[in-house]
Amino acid sequence: MAETVKETLKEIKAGRIGEAGLVRLLSLPTRDEFQPVFEESARVCRLHFGDRVFIRGIVEFSNYCRKGCFYCGINKANRGLGRYRLTLEEILGAAVYMKKQGALTVVLQSGEDLGYDGLVLEAVRRIKGELNMAVTLSVGERDRNGYREFLRAGADRYLLRIETTDPDLFKKLHPDDDLEYRMQCLHDLKKLGFEVGTGIMVGLPGQSFESIARDLLFFRELNPAMVGIGPFLPHQDTPLRGHKNSDIFLTLKTLALIRLVLPKSNLPATTAMGTIDPTGRQQALRVGANVIMPNFTPSKYRESYKLYDDKICVSEEYGKCASCTRGIAQAAGKRIVRSKGYSKSK
Ligand code: SAM
Repeated sequence: MAETVKETLKEIKAGRIGEAGLVRLLSLPTRDEFQPVFEESARVCRLHFGDRVFIRGIVEFSNYCRKGCFYCGINKANRGLGRYRLTLEEILGAAVYMKKQGALTVVLQSGEDLGYDGLVLEAVRRIKGELNMAVTLSVGERDRNGYREFLRAGADRYLLRIETTDPDLFKKLHPDDDLEYRMQCLHDLKKLGFEVGTGIMVGLPGQSFESIARDLLFFRELNPAMVGIGPFLPHQDTPLRGHKNSDIFLTLKTLALIRLVLPKSNLPATTAMGTIDPTGRQQALRVGANVIMPNFTPSKYRESYKLYDDKICVSEEYGKCASCTRGIAQAAGKRIVRSKGYSKSK
């Protein structure tokens, strides 16, 4: 088996890995067997980023959503959920605070809340103009003109996960979405000049190794600046309630392979990884992740932005995330840097 792993790693290095090779690695059942891949992904990450970890402070500014994605706790059908929108002042206050803590990138994230785009544009202009920070938007699907307006306001990056490239699975999980349109959005964002981030959930009910392997090949072709992945975790008020959590090992295997397929991409150690395993983010940083996204949403709103059950940092005191983030990086033998962390893959 060790020989097969070595041969498959050579295929990745030569840029000629296909679905079968990726499935071979993804299906390795033990950490011992996968260890050579983790060592290689850690090496490649150090080669391009050294021991540096970028931070992107996230502000979950609205939980209104027009979509009914079956996995998501803020989907429109969850009528028991109190809906909120931050004011412009609250968003700017969070940005000022995170800058003081050393985060120079703001990620503005929300449900698909089209009615609030005017405020988002104003927030982007003010953050760029007054605070000179990088801005990432993660607000879902828009048409090309909508994206262009965000760009003109000054947004630098856009995060839109493809979630899965498996057409049947995508259809089952997204009653309001179309896989081809979402792919088109990603291509449009790239053409317009955004640093584009995408990603998937790992361990979705019905997702196979083959399907994850095809997601990785899609990433290789799109060549995004960032790939954010996380384990699927069920939420009690969604149609996927009762399904089992994904597992951290499969998520880490997927992350390591993304690092090898896209050596220079920014790969976050995500909150969902820290939720499924208390040391999930540290483990991710050890095997190829180079970004952490601490939460700067004002505390009183966090309970209402639970995408899945038991999400971490929800009851945490405001401001704690910055020091916690430093500890996570240190535990992985890395250090947080004060940088906007622009992409190296451009
Ligand atoms: N509305 C924007 C969009 O669709 O891109 C951004 C917000 S959306 C809630 C952010 C991400 O949360 C999604 O891309 C999805 O991958 C993740 N997410 C939602 N529900 C989840 C769950 N149950 N388990 C893990 N991740 C989840």
